[in-house]
Amino acid sequence: MLRNREQFGIDSFEVKGITIHNTGTKDTAYELYKKIRKSSMSNGAHFLVDKDQVIQLLPLNHSSWHTGKGYDFGNLFTIAIEICQSQSDDYFEAQKRAATLIKQLLKSYGLTTADIYFHNDFNERTYCPHRILDIYKTKEEFIKEVLENA
Ligand SMILES: [Zn+2]
Repeated sequence: MLRNREQFGIDSFEVKGITIHNTGTKDTAYELYKKIRKSSMSNGAHFLVDKDQVIQLLPLNHSSWHTGKGYDFGNLFTIAIEICQSQSDDYFEAQKRAATLIKQLLKSYGLTTADIYFHNDFNERTYCPHRILDIYKTKEEFIKEVLENA
């Protein structure tokens, strides 16, 4: 799984935030995990979350390549979470599980909701997390509606 660690990414990266993505598919975390394994893109996120489980792809002292912008703040300093099933009716359950994970990570790294990023904070050409942007429009609204109620 981690055969590309030396090839891509940075070990012992400092966690300064969390970046949220939506997969844009109906795939469960495990279905996506299987595709990622086949493609050797094992450093594309730290966590895949769906309604049933959280799959961790990378250790949290290792950077993930997820913003599409090279050596930017998002890749260098943030934990990447892919919320799966974003084209499915199961999305809200997946999002709920992700919110619980996000709150745990904020707590364990001494971060606040000000340290939460969306993919498009780093790459304005990307409409990601698409489902969250469709529903909540802004990060502030997502934090208020989802995280503060998790
Ligand atoms: Zn994304």
